[in-house]
Amino acid sequence: MSHLVLVLGDQLSESLSALQAADKSTDMVVMSEVADETSYVQHHPKKIALIFAAMRKFAQHLRDEGWNVAYAQLDDSENAGSIVGELLRRAEQTGAQTVLATEPGEWRLIGHLKEAPLRVEMLPDGRFLASHQEFEDWADGRKQLRMEYFYREMRRKTGLLMEGAQPSGGKWNFDHDNRKPAPDEITFEGPLRFEPDETVQEVLDLVEVRFSNHFGALRPFWFATSRAEALQQLDHFISKGLPKFGDFQDAMLNDNRFLYHGLISTSLNIGLLTPLEVCTAAARAFEQGDAPINAVEGFIRQIIGWREYVRGIYFLEGPDYTSRNVLGQTRDLPDVYWGGKTGMNCMAKAVGQTREEAYAHHIQRLMITGNFGLLAGIDPQQMHEWYLAVYADAFEWVEAPNTVGMSQFADGGIIASKPYVSSGAYINRMSDYCKSCSYKVAQKTGDTACPFNLLYWHFLDRHRPRFSGNARMGNMYRTWDRMDAEKRETVIAEANALLDRLDAGEAI
Ligand code: FAD
Ligand code: SF4
Repeated sequence: MSHLVLVLGDQLSESLSALQAADKSTDMVVMSEVADETSYVQHHPKKIALIFAAMRKFAQHLRDEGWNVAYAQLDDSENAGSIVGELLRRAEQTGAQTVLATEPGEWRLIGHLKEAPLRVEMLPDGRFLASHQEFEDWADGRKQLRMEYFYREMRRKTGLLMEGAQPSGGKWNFDHDNRKPAPDEITFEGPLRFEPDETVQEVLDLVEVRFSNHFGALRPFWFATSRAEALQQLDHFISKGLPKFGDFQDAMLNDNRFLYHGLISTSLNIGLLTPLEVCTAAARAFEQGDAPINAVEGFIRQIIGWREYVRGIYFLEGPDYTSRNVLGQTRDLPDVYWGGKTGMNCMAKAVGQTREEAYAHHIQRLMITGNFGLLAGIDPQQMHEWYLAVYADAFEWVEAPNTVGMSQFADGGIIASKPYVSSGAYINRMSDYCKSCSYKVAQKTGDTACPFNLLYWHFLDRHRPRFSGNARMGNMYRTWDRMDAEKRETVIAEANALLDRLDAGEAI
């Protein structure tokens, strides 16, 4: 036995560098469901089930391909309970001295492997378009690291939606045509729902017993858990959802949780799909006239733009990124995030859907739960831990920059050029939530005033020294300053009263 080959739960790709570097005739693949990884935050039961089920299927696939796989299930009596513990156990069993590992997507685990009393050869994760070095080279010397410019580099590099040196359709970005409110009728029936097979069923039974105290509903469970299912989900989205993805990607509805979203992040992030194959399929739909440029460009930008960019930032900024808090926000995460009673329909809907599906789309994460956290002054670290726990697609390299940076502005504007905050008007424009809310979105003060309206001005007022000089926020401050002084006082007093109620654990 010469090497152990570590394959983590989000590394389920045949192209994984550790597998590529190994020799299946002599090396042993180590895959382990360990307690440590299920408990550093209280992951949603659906997320744990997704990862374990997909791991078991990938392990079987590797065996079918001739690999020697040592797989530890969570309830195996010998299970050491941690990744390093499992590697040590297998090393002792086999006499192997060296571990081939692909770099984990989390500083925490990278640290554990570096400190392990074993020789660990850490290989780059080649499943991304941009290596750490490429991102560093791009970032070097720039005053601002704007995603849009990085994205153009990725378009040039991949040739996706390019006609020679020019972008297809004559523009890099078609967002101007996107972001419409939801139409009367949604023509996409949503993601495919996969019936649990025997492997999934076994995992569900295990997760039900072990993690019944974690926030979130385990059943019904229907995520794709194998590459074959992930490819079916992708095909389904490309042919049926993608054509209108751009138009309605920011819309939110009481009675439709998915609209035109693909729900492929779970498969992408655990390695069942590759970013390039997903984008190539979307570009093909455009070339064949099956989807318009605004939809395809918008979709591809999310993947070769945002997804690669946030990973670049996570690794560029280093392990302390998740603890940044430039706005000094310290309020504890209120109960409403764990399903506590609230009269705010938008929060109830976003959190309720998160509890049931381990999924919410981007605007629900950014402009409902994220917006509320930022306006209400919630500690960004607690926001980060919440997002990391509750979404099935949450892995720190992608979740943390989205939460700490984009959503909570806790990194001081590395990712977002201004904080993503809004009053109730934006939510009302993009959703039908306000129609069935106990608060009144048009009301700015008073008992039934929408909390987003009060907290929006409170946020701008309390962070005035930092933001009033931001050119993109000038209009907001001018509107605030035009309000008469008495009204401003009332808004601040009512917002403070609301925050006091939140601190006292009262439902708002
Ligand atoms: P679609 O809307 O169909 O988009 C297509 C794909 O684009 C996604 O599958 C995803 O891979 C990619 N994508 C879109 N936006 C982003 C983005 N901002 N960053 C990275 N990739 C993006 N995404 C995660 O994958 N994991 C997370 O833990 C995560 N946490 C988030 C936390 C906050 C506060 C916010 C605002 C966003 C977060 N996102 C995260 C980004 C985004 O919300 C999800 O990628 C998206 O909702 C996944 O659903 P989908 O596959 O239906 O996406
Ligand atoms: Fe949300 Fe305010 Fe609309 Fe109610 S009125 S749904 S709290 S934005």
